[in-house]
Amino acid sequence: RLEIRNLVKTFAGKRVVDDVSLTIEPGHVTCLLGPSGCGKSTTLRMIAGVDMQDTGTIQMDGRLICDTVFRIPPERRSIGLMFQDFALFPHLSVGDNVGFGLKGAKADRRRRVEEMLDRVGLLHYVDEFPHQLSGGEQQRVALARALAPQPRVMLMDEPFSGLDNRLRDGIRDDTLALLKEEGASVLLVTHEPEEAMRMADEIALMRKGKIVQRGAPYNIYNAPVDKAAVAFFSDIN
Ligand code: ATP
Ligand code: MG
Repeated sequence: RLEIRNLVKTFAGKRVVDDVSLTIEPGHVTCLLGPSGCGKSTTLRMIAGVDMQDTGTIQMDGRLICDTVFRIPPERRSIGLMFQDFALFPHLSVGDNVGFGLKGAKADRRRRVEEMLDRVGLLHYVDEFPHQLSGGEQQRVALARALAPQPRVMLMDEPFSGLDNRLRDGIRDDTLALLKEEGASVLLVTHEPEEAMRMADEIALMRKGKIVQRGAPYNIYNAPVDKAAVAFFSDIN
């Protein structure tokens, strides 16, 4: 389990992340849901270790990952990352993209790359390059790459928002199935209530740097904490 306690991040005197605490249970999908600018990506970047909090701690299974003095580097956190733009390496083949973060013997790495590409249905693209793939295919390569090293936790920042509307639902379902199969705990950032309702085991509703409500999707949908939460959810039909 990933435990985040009392994270604070200030930019130019403004508390962008203001005392955020979150627990991500093993095997669960937790959605960090909130409007644009509320501090979701900043929270994710601190958990990933690419940004440093002002105060607060991050622990994985009771082990300290990061506080204000101690810090395990990002590549040793057993955390997978996926972004909105997929961020594939353009100069590397699909296979080399998926194998990028892998350690061990070459044959083992190759086997894992092929296994993951097969799981997302793209083994035939192993020697192609990212620009030759559609957006949906690039998303699947990015997912395969993030899951290849078997991270304990996957952090996903709006991983579906760059996709064509018609493809999005199917890709969300396929992604969720693969995440569950791999057994990763997931923290998924989104500003779309519908996406959180569809994917989350638990939702953490964020506003102006704070978590204002947490719970199962239907509890939050049926009993929003205040008028602003009602308004935010009212987009869903
Ligand atoms: P979105 O849904 O639009 O992606 P978000 O919830 O991910 O929004 P963040 O990217 O975390 O929001 O940004 C929160 C606030 O912090 C914003 O007001 C943003 O301008 C500010 N901010 C983020 N990064 C920096 C930075 N490096 N320097 C200064 N301000 C920043
Ligand atoms: Mg963001």
